[in-house]
Amino acid sequence: MEIYDVVVVGAGPVGLATALGLQKRGIKNILVIDQTRAFRQVGHTVDLLPNGLKALKSLDNQAYEAVKQTGMTFSTPPSTDNQGQKAASNSPEWVYRNLQGEKIRSIPLSFDSWFANYGEGRVSIAWYKLQTALRQLLPPEQVKANHRCISVVEQPEMGWVRVDCVCDVESEENPYAHWQEMTPVKNTDSVSSQSVSKSFRAKLVVGADGINSTVRRVIYQDTLHAAFAKPEYSGFAAIICMGIDNIPQELSTQLEEKYLNGGRIVTIVSGTKDTRMILVRREAGTFGYIIHGAFTWESLQGKSGSALIKLGLKSLKADDFPDFIQELVRMSPEEKMQQRPYYIHRASTSNALQLSSTATPNLSSETEPIEPAWSQGRIVLVGDAAHGMPTFMAQGTNQGFEDALAIATLIANLQINDNQAIATAWKKYSQLRRPSMIYMQQATLNPLIYSSQEDFHSYNQRVYSRDFEPIIEGLL
Ligand SMILES: Cc1cc2nc3c(=O)[nH]c(=O)nc-3n(C[C@H](O)[C@H](O)[C@H](O)COP(=O)(O)OP(=O)(O)OC[C@H]3O[C@@H](n4cnc5c(N)ncnc54)[C@H](O)[C@@H]3O)c2cc1C
Repeated sequence: MEIYDVVVVGAGPVGLATALGLQKRGIKNILVIDQTRAFRQVGHTVDLLPNGLKALKSLDNQAYEAVKQTGMTFSTPPSTDNQGQKAASNSPEWVYRNLQGEKIRSIPLSFDSWFANYGEGRVSIAWYKLQTALRQLLPPEQVKANHRCISVVEQPEMGWVRVDCVCDVESEENPYAHWQEMTPVKNTDSVSSQSVSKSFRAKLVVGADGINSTVRRVIYQDTLHAAFAKPEYSGFAAIICMGIDNIPQELSTQLEEKYLNGGRIVTIVSGTKDTRMILVRREAGTFGYIIHGAFTWESLQGKSGSALIKLGLKSLKADDFPDFIQELVRMSPEEKMQQRPYYIHRASTSNALQLSSTATPNLSSETEPIEPAWSQGRIVLVGDAAHGMPTFMAQGTNQGFEDALAIATLIANLQINDNQAIATAWKKYSQLRRPSMIYMQQATLNPLIYSSQEDFHSYNQRVYSRDFEPIIEGLL
C-alpha cells in the first residue's frame, strides 16, 4: 500500500485549499477523500471576504483567480454625478435598519469597495461552485469521492496513520449540516458496523471533514476532551419561511416603505437585543424572512409548522418588532416553515461567558478555560472540524482558509518523519490561530455588526486588514 505524505479527509473548501497550498509548496504525494457518493450541487452561498481571499491568494494564486472568476463580484457601475465625481451610492450594498426603519449600517457588496478599504475584495460564491473551482485545480486522481472516513488509527512505531473508509454507502444523517443530505440513512450506527472497504496510509492526516467531523470524534474519544467531540448548540437558531404569497397591499406597502426601500433584502435589528430579521422580497407580492435569535434548545425540539410560527412571534414580540412584521409572520404557510439550529466547536471554553444565556455551556464560568485540542500525533484539524460556528459574521470559510495557509506553510517546512517537529508545528498552528478564533467566535455570538461604529471599525481592521506575509514568516 502506498504511503501518502498527506491525506486530507474532506473535500470541502478548506480541505481542498489545504491540498492546493501543499501542492504549490512542492508536496505532491497527497490525497483528498470525501464521503459524498459523487460531487453534486449542495450548499448555500458563501461570502469570501478580504482575509479569506488574501489567505487563498497566498496559498495558490491560480485558485484565487479561479474563485474570483467563478463567483459574483458585484461590480460598481461606472457612474458619475454632475460634478464628474464617482457616485458612491451606486455601489450595491446590504442595509441594516433599526425597528424604526432608520438605516444604521450598510455593507458594500462590490469587490472594489472592499479592495479600496482593505487591500482585497469580496466575492459571493455558491459552496458547490467554490468546491468545484478548487477541486478542478487538483489532478483528478488526487481527489476521491465515495470514501467516507470512519476511523483514523495512529501507528506510531511505523510513523504513519491508517485512514479507514467505507465506500458505496448512502449518506449518513447529519443533524449539524447546513443542508440536508439526500436519502439519509436513519440509523447512523449502521455505517460504523460495516466492514472497512478501503484503507490508506499517510504520514500526516488533515481532518477537514466539517462541523460533524469523524476525525475529531476519533481523536477525542477516551481523552479529556471527549465532551467536545460533538458540536455544541450555540444558543442561536434561525426560523425561516421563504414563500409568503398574496400579501395584502397595505402590508406590502408598509414593508416596502419602512424597511425595503426599493431593495430586495434588508436586515432589521432590535437594538441591543438578540432578535433580528432578514426580510426578503422575492417576486412581486411574495416575501420571505429569516428570524435569527437566541432560542433555548428545548424550545426548538420537535417544532415545525404552527409551533415554529408561534416561537418566532414570541421572540419578535419580546423584542418589540412592530405589529405589521408580526402580521407577516402570522401569514406564513405552515408547510414552508423551517428551523436551523446553529452549532459550535468552541476554540476555548472561555467563550462560554460570551454565549447567550440560553446556550448550554458544558462548564461553569469558574472552571479553568479548556482549549479543545486541534491535533493529536500526526493528525491535525482545520476549518469547521476545528472551530465550526454560526454564520453571522460570514467567517467560517474565511477563517478556514487562514487555517489552510498556516497548515500548508508548516507542513511544507517540516521534517515529516520527526515526531518532535510535528508536535512543534501543531503547537505553532494553535498559537497562531486560536486567539483569532476566540475573538472571531466572540464576535459571532455577540455580532459586532450591530454594535457601535467604533467597535465595528476596529473589528473590520483587525479581521480584514492583516497582511499575511509577516504571519507566514513568523511560522517559519
Ligand atoms: C447558511 C450559511 C451561510 C454561510 N455563509 C458563509 C459566508 O458567507 N462566509 C463564510 O466564510 N462562511 C460561511 N458559512 C460557513 C461555511 O459554509 C463553512 O464554514 C465552510 O463550508 C467550512 O468548510 P470546511 O471545508 O471546513 O467544511 P465543509 O464545507 O463542511 O466540508 C466538509 C467536507 O467533508 C466531507 N466529509 C464530512 N465527513 C466526512 C467523512 N467522514 N469522510 C470523508 N469526507 C467527509 C463533506 O462531504 C464535505 O465535502 C455559512 C454557513 C451556512 C450554513
